[in-house]
Amino acid sequence: MPAVVDRGICNGCVGLERRECVYNCPYDAIALVDGKAVVDEIKCDECRICIEVCPVRAIALE
Ligand code: SF4
Ligand code: SF4
Repeated sequence: MPAVVDRGICNGCVGLERRECVYNCPYDAIALVDGKAVVDEIKCDECRICIEVCPVRAIALE
């Protein structure tokens, strides 16, 4: 199953220079929508990198 962002936890990496999940996803599978990260389920390869780099632990594999 693809990575899923908990929109209640994601803060859009406010205060940081970049959105860590968007920046680090090797498959270009994450975009920001209304200030929150959203994963493209088709592009996601389940590599788990976004889970590791999110500073607020907003992403999980479901
Ligand atoms: S699990 Fe990997 S491929 Fe999927 S969204 Fe996260 S970084 Fe991108
Ligand atoms: S790294 Fe975490 S807090 Fe930052 S945009 Fe992605 S899901 Fe949101």
